Amino acid sequence: MDLSRDVTKLVRYQDQLELKSKIYNTLYQISSLSFRTKSKEEFLQNLPKIIVDNLDMEISYVALKNDGNIEIAHHLARDFQYSNYLDKVKIFIKSIARNPLLNYHTPILKSLKKKGIYLVNEIDSHGFCPFKKIVSSYGIKSCCAISIVSKNEIIGTLVITSSKPNLFNREIYSLFRVIQNQIEFILDKLQDDRFSQITLSALNSGFEFVIITDSNFNIVYVNDKATEISGYSRQELLGKHHSVFSSRTHSKEFVKNFYNTLRSGEVYSGIMQYKIKNGSIKNFYVNITPFFEEKVITHYISVGKEIVKDDELLEELEKLLNYDATTGLINIYSFKKALEQFIERATYEKTIGAVAIINPIDFKKINEAFGFETGNSILQQIAKRLTDNLRSYDKVSKLESDRFGLLLKDLKAEEDILIIISKLLLELTKPYKAKDKSISISFNIGLSLFPKDATTPDGLLDKAHIALSDAKEKGENQIGFFRKELEKDATRVLQLKADLELALLNKEFIAYYQPYVDRNQKIVGAEALMRWKKDNRIIPPAEFIEYLEQTSLIIDAQELIIDQVLEDLKLLKKPVPISINLSTQSLKQRHLSDNLISNINYHNIPNNLIKLEIIERTLLNNFDYVARLIKELKESNILFSLDDFGTGFSSLSYLASLDVEILKIDISFVRDLDNPKTKSIVDSIIYLAHSLGIKTIAEGVETQYQFEALKSMNCDYFQGYLFYKPMDKQELIQAIEHN
Ligand code: C2E
Ligand code: CA
Ligand code: CA
Repeated sequence: MDLSRDVTKLVRYQDQLELKSKIYNTLYQISSLSFRTKSKEEFLQNLPKIIVDNLDMEISYVALKNDGNIEIAHHLARDFQYSNYLDKVKIFIKSIARNPLLNYHTPILKSLKKKGIYLVNEIDSHGFCPFKKIVSSYGIKSCCAISIVSKNEIIGTLVITSSKPNLFNREIYSLFRVIQNQIEFILDKLQDDRFSQITLSALNSGFEFVIITDSNFNIVYVNDKATEISGYSRQELLGKHHSVFSSRTHSKEFVKNFYNTLRSGEVYSGIMQYKIKNGSIKNFYVNITPFFEEKVITHYISVGKEIVKDDELLEELEKLLNYDATTGLINIYSFKKALEQFIERATYEKTIGAVAIINPIDFKKINEAFGFETGNSILQQIAKRLTDNLRSYDKVSKLESDRFGLLLKDLKAEEDILIIISKLLLELTKPYKAKDKSISISFNIGLSLFPKDATTPDGLLDKAHIALSDAKEKGENQIGFFRKELEKDATRVLQLKADLELALLNKEFIAYYQPYVDRNQKIVGAEALMRWKKDNRIIPPAEFIEYLEQTSLIIDAQELIIDQVLEDLKLLKKPVPISINLSTQSLKQRHLSDNLISNINYHNIPNNLIKLEIIERTLLNNFDYVARLIKELKESNILFSLDDFGTGFSSLSYLASLDVEILKIDISFVRDLDNPKTKSIVDSIIYLAHSLGIKTIAEGVETQYQFEALKSMNCDYFQGYLFYKPMDKQELIQAIEHN
């Protein structure tokens, strides 16, 4: 019995001896940490790790007071098993914070109330506390809470726990005291450094006075210029409420807005009137920045400059209203105006656009670590990269705090935004220069699209913000879309576009042919229909032609088809004309007719065996151009058909001024032929076409009934599954031979 007690004592003695040397080491680590960290937060964040690693403790955490609450801000546990424990401590701490009447004698609570070091050496035999059970159930035997003090205020506590009992003796207590003082000293120094950095940076950017108040707007610091301008001495100002300067010339709403802005943590900048000591009122341009510590506003830093002349005032006002002072970019106010203008025009022109919100991650930390001057310089570099990498008519703006807003106008397709923004992100994530340092920053970007996501400036901004939080959830350097399905679509389409480019290189676009017949079902011609032959799969144009058009690959793909048609025509024993579908881009390419004619000549094929099809919609914006082209090619015996007739603007009157050979009645009319109204429309189309000397083809004839009805209306030619489906060239050769 006695012996075992002695052994325990001896072990304890050794433990304590070991701990002593470890504390010295820890002290050294903490001191050297102060040189490496630039902010209080960063410093406190590292404390638990130093404690756990160097003191060989089970768990250490920093709990901080936050707006009446107490929160575990930073923690580290040596083993995984304790993570659960921390959750329970969190709940306990929350419950005591919510209930200030509870007065347990726990070291944590004591250390938060009165500066000191509170030790418990044998938790099991410690006084009453409902939390004790939980603690000891994790095998924790000793615990120590050290008040963290900064600027004479207890801001939190550093808690250390060990599974060894009776660890802390008097000697160790005094060593902890040294650690506590060291922490206080470092925190104060970090804070002073920051104030002086801010002051310096304000003075460098042309401001004159600097006044710092605490969170209740009581003045804690003024620079010389502030005393000079105001006429008050430093002693007269320190400790006073900032309303000593109040001119009482501002409206109630102004004052309300002023305080609301600051209390919500946003920067206030504007023109203020202050009363100085001699009673006169002066105009100042001021910029007031809330200063945060552990997410709580502790101070307000006000920098300002007197406005002497009236025109200076106007100029400042104008700048203030429309531009961001740091970056020179337009501010949110003018950005919204730009959005409004864009929306008005885009609604009319039916174009699409996108709003992007760009958020550098943890930018606050950069300000804290390197000072505002560096922070501002980086914001300016970001602004420059944004403007340099976008088109000149896109809008780049600086929104609230550290966010940037982009308006990307006139996108060809929604998914193009993904390409533009991905490229931009690549630029943004390259390192930034700050004096002799190189700083890397990560970003998140949120996107909303006009008109699909919203059609108002605020709507677009809101949705881009929602998209931004989505991007944040995914991690660093992520892009978020307001509509998630769009992201999937966009990625899929981008992949598709890349595939199409490859397909073009591999010449995977081939022509299928669909013959059309006369009323005796004799093949009189065929239409070339593009297919994508991908790994023995034949993909129809509905799945890709739209994207070929968006990427302008259509022109090259079309040339492949034309070449192939010219080759295949030579294989036909009894050649029939083959018509080729041309999209707007192909039609509008330069030298279309010259190229086509020389190509046909090169293959030694009669011009009249090639026909061109254009859809009615193409005429919409290009009527004169197309009308001229048709005339020009007709002189060389290359004739046009008007495709999908009836789906465009269906004005029959323009037909007279277009020299087309054939009109193709759209499949939708043919499908609906048992409707008497449709039937009479088709009847008059055919009648009118004939009266203009234009022939007609009915598309998509699938039934005998449709065939008979169309014949009775004197339709000239017929195309559809009833006769032939689209087929490859071998099948075409056979179909014509057996005809
Ligand atoms: P389109 O010019 O109107 O071609 C007729 C479409 O109707 C073809 O579809 C054809 O397969 C289909 N079709 C023919 N008969 C019937 C029928 O009886 N019933 C039904 N349900 N459908 C029938 P496809 O081949 O999928 O082509 C779709 C569209 O792609 C074409 O419509 C054309 O606008 C475009 N396209 C095809 N090839 C080219 C090309 O080389 N260049 C360009 N720019 N566009 C092309
Ligand atoms: Ca066609
Ligand atoms: Ca058609």
